[in-house]
Amino acid sequence: MILAANFKMNHTRLSTKEYLRRLDAFLEEKKPKSDIYLFPPVSALDSFETKVNIGVQNAYPAQKGSFTGEIGLEQLEEFDIKNIIIGHSERRHILGENQEFITQKFKFFKDKGFKIFYCIGETLEVREGGKELIKKYLGLQLEGIDLSYKNLVIAYEPVWAIGTGKSATSEDIEEILEFLSKKSDAPLLYGGSVKPSNIKEIVSVSNCSGALIGTASWDVNSFCEMIELTN
Ligand code: PEP
Repeated sequence: MILAANFKMNHTRLSTKEYLRRLDAFLEEKKPKSDIYLFPPVSALDSFETKVNIGVQNAYPAQKGSFTGEIGLEQLEEFDIKNIIIGHSERRHILGENQEFITQKFKFFKDKGFKIFYCIGETLEVREGGKELIKKYLGLQLEGIDLSYKNLVIAYEPVWAIGTGKSATSEDIEEILEFLSKKSDAPLLYGGSVKPSNIKEIVSVSNCSGALIGTASWDVNSFCEMIELTN
């Protein structure tokens, strides 16, 4: 099982350090079977001594260069970061990343051997168009992506479920994960309002290998509770 915490634009360097101290103590004591990932904001990156796999929520597809406000491979190498989220809906819909740019990022970080948490998910408008439209939309978000890449993890995250408290139903998740499992052997995660009260049911859906968790991961006790509940 893979459980990943996406801090988004939350936590500071100091609070991330404290979070990791408490999470590591928990992992040391409970020794859960799951692989744990944490994606803090870039300003909190450091040379952590931790059992947790640290990654970034985004990076620019270049070694270094004139890309104001971005970070590239050089900055990731400083902290030995080998995990990245690509295609998150907030980057697609708020920051305006299109599929062409996302594909470019994917190719770059794949060539560098990164574990890529590749996110896809339909908007509410698409959802209202029915299952076939959802699958067509998700298919477009997979265009240009090497679905046989050995370090690929796919996260199905319906946009309408992210940060809203309203998760997709097990039946809906199952249908989409089954559709995705026919396209790729990569582990399939669900993301979208996963929390202690629903995580057990969600990860027991067939083809579900874990969860990408935003809001409910920001509190270390809540994240530890979810790790324990799914162990
Ligand atoms: C996410 O940002 O990937 C996410 C799933 O957020 P939340 O858990 O808050 O819905």
